[in-house]
Amino acid sequence: MRSNDEFLAVRRLVSEGHPDHEIAWLTGIPRRTISGWRRGERQGRIRDECSGGITPRHDFSKLDPKAYAYLLGLYLGDGCISGGRRGVWCLRITLDAAYPGIVHECATALEAIFPAKTACRAQRPGSRCVDVSMWSKHWPCFFPQHGPGRKHLRPIRLAPWQQTIVAAKRKSFVRGLIHSDGTRITAIERKGSYVRRAPRYAFSNKSEDIKRLFCESCDALGVRWSRPSDQQIAIYRKESVARLDEFIGPKR
Ligand SMILES: [Zn+2]
Repeated sequence: MRSNDEFLAVRRLVSEGHPDHEIAWLTGIPRRTISGWRRGERQGRIRDECSGGITPRHDFSKLDPKAYAYLLGLYLGDGCISGGRRGVWCLRITLDAAYPGIVHECATALEAIFPAKTACRAQRPGSRCVDVSMWSKHWPCFFPQHGPGRKHLRPIRLAPWQQTIVAAKRKSFVRGLIHSDGTRITAIERKGSYVRRAPRYAFSNKSEDIKRLFCESCDALGVRWSRPSDQQIAIYRKESVARLDEFIGPKR
């Protein structure tokens, strides 16, 4: 029997729109196994009506696009999906307790995706980290980027329906990315006796793919960025910072 990791890898490639022969070539799993999974022939631990299926039965166009784009940004920055026992998964976003406004916004976005549920908030003892979480059978359907291993060690590609949402709600997506893996700092610039306080934004992530998604959305929003180091994207031009301030601003 194929492992859950193999199944999840195939599932991610299906969500990205790859045909069976390509998935077979990429994963080494026979094409007839993959086409069987597409038809719902799956034996194993994570099988259930949806989260074990290879093509989720959801109408993603009904999602609240603003909440979803924001949550996707948070998830790609500091989120993880775990569990999977009996097909129930936990989506957990780890945030800084110093910013209760962001914790609240994250919980509100989760509750917009599943209005019947309440997001759980838990501060880790002796730490500034707050975990905002929610259980569902469907997190791998909504975040097909879920898969074995760390995010920066595997490819992160958006499914076509996710690309549509991000293209429509880039500000929310970038806001989510900055709220999880970004900062807004105020630099002090001195020229002789002249002192200027200059706000700047920075985004850091180990994944090249996630950095690329961030930069693509910045480009689409007319925000100019630079890359001072391997892991960091910086925005320091006055007009670009002002553009981000329109929909992000200081973390609260
Ligand atoms: Zn589902």
